[in-house]
Amino acid sequence: MSILVFIEQRDGKVRSVSREALGEASRLAASLGGPVVGVCCAAADPGLAELGAAGADNVLLATHEAFAKYDGAGYAAALSAAVKTLAPAAVLFPASAMGRDLAPRVAAQACVGLASECSAISNAGGRLVATRSVYAGKALQKVAFPASPAMLTLRAKMFAALEPQAGKSAAIEPLAFAWDAAAPRARVTALVAAKGGKQDVTEAEIVVSGGRGMKGPEHFALLESLADVLGASVGASRAVVDAGWRPHGEQVGQTGKVVAPKLYVAVGISGAIQHLAGMTSSRCIVAINKDPDAPIFKVADYGIVGDLFEVVPALTGALQQPR
Ligand SMILES: Cc1cc2nc3c(=O)[nH]c(=O)nc-3n(C[C@H](O)[C@H](O)[C@H](O)COP(=O)(O)OP(=O)(O)OC[C@H]3O[C@@H](n4cnc5c(N)ncnc54)[C@H](O)[C@@H]3O)c2cc1C
Repeated sequence: MSILVFIEQRDGKVRSVSREALGEASRLAASLGGPVVGVCCAAADPGLAELGAAGADNVLLATHEAFAKYDGAGYAAALSAAVKTLAPAAVLFPASAMGRDLAPRVAAQACVGLASECSAISNAGGRLVATRSVYAGKALQKVAFPASPAMLTLRAKMFAALEPQAGKSAAIEPLAFAWDAAAPRARVTALVAAKGGKQDVTEAEIVVSGGRGMKGPEHFALLESLADVLGASVGASRAVVDAGWRPHGEQVGQTGKVVAPKLYVAVGISGAIQHLAGMTSSRCIVAINKDPDAPIFKVADYGIVGDLFEVVPALTGALQQPR
């Protein structure tokens, strides 16, 4: 049985989360058997053949002029057609904004459940078991799938993409599907990119986040400078976003984005459980806080107790020194 992977593209570019999902699908296919099949919805082929190097054996391409932008109903019709035709063992989606909207539609149409926000998948004697966090990251839950196919959304940065396999390309096949584009219930009219052209916090390798300890929006220039020398994106706590200091797209946490970068620097953030829910999977956590009892230090690998208005410029200056 095959493993289907939804290939997310934006503006004709395949997103890195899809390569991570293909990597995990390849690892699962090695123990379950069966091919790894990508399914992409687009107005035109965004260069899918190269996904062979990322682990896809072949890719089904559903083309429609309306797919220049995301269309939940149209994409779901295409994915459901692929599920019906191939009867796969599993369908993997990225836990991105698009994947979170699309996966429940496809699961509902297939009358199966959905394990969302998974951080690990294992094969227990031919049965897939997914690990996902619950209670704002306080506990891990393991879920099995009573019906086939198993449907899962995968958290960004939790699954490694394959080392590109040189010379391997995927066969592209057209995917037939039925969908009435003339009667949409909802339509995406525009996608507005975040200002500054920085990488989204979910995709960045390094995230520097600021909290209420920053004291005001004007002081985020300090974090922008630190982020620039580190090649990082800037994130924020909800307190900061609610105060209107930073845009919602930067919010990390339970009601914001879940990030798992190589390095997460929390500056003037207390470490409330709802914030921790979004960043404790980071590989290395550095906390800067003047309160030695701040809960953020419980999850930090490195802690600096001090005034951020002294520590951050000193750190930025030190990192700017030639090494
Ligand atoms: C349902 C629900 C969902 C939520 N979702 C989220 C979410 O997604 N993300 C999120 O972040 N929060 C979320 N929250 C809010 C969360 O509970 C906290 O209120 C919030 O995270 C606190 O933000 P903060 O750490 O920036 O502010 P504070 O808790 O006020 O912490 C500020 C920190 O800055 C330190 N500080 C102050 N001055 C300095 C200085 N000069 N130098 C160094 N340190 C200094 C202080 O010691 C303190 O630890 C949610 C809450 C609820 C109820």
